[in-house]
Amino acid sequence: MHHALGRAERQHRAIANEKPGPLLETKRCACGKAAPARLLVHYGKCHGCRLADRIATLHDGDLHILRHMVGATDHHPRARWGLRNEYLLNRRERAAMERPAAAGFARVGTALPQLQYFHATDPGCRVAGLDTKRSRVALSLGAQP
Ligand SMILES: [Zn+2]
Repeated sequence: MHHALGRAERQHRAIANEKPGPLLETKRCACGKAAPARLLVHYGKCHGCRLADRIATLHDGDLHILRHMVGATDHHPRARWGLRNEYLLNRRERAAMERPAAAGFARVGTALPQLQYFHATDPGCRVAGLDTKRSRVALSLGAQP
């Protein structure tokens, strides 16, 4: 037991002392922002640019639905945004959630006869304008399947 622990500890120390490999270096994304080279090699762009690409796939109205889903509208004070996290669509309306779901901003929830619940994901909450605290509230409300 002690021996195994010692070995793990030595291994850990060896890793900690290693110089960062080329993929741990920081490089610049095309947008000018610094990002880990590993990320740029893998995705070709930084997190911000990837998020912007995902947002760009949304159509007019998609964002409105996302905001409505989490109560991030003018009807509620900003401090209460995230007071809900659900949106119920009938079969015909379902297509409206295809783009936000494909972009990772919404997920499918419970299915009812002819109806389908959708919930905002963490990135979906952010895109809808929620801060960290209110996103956490909204995510705790998004009924788990
Ligand atoms: Zn970028």
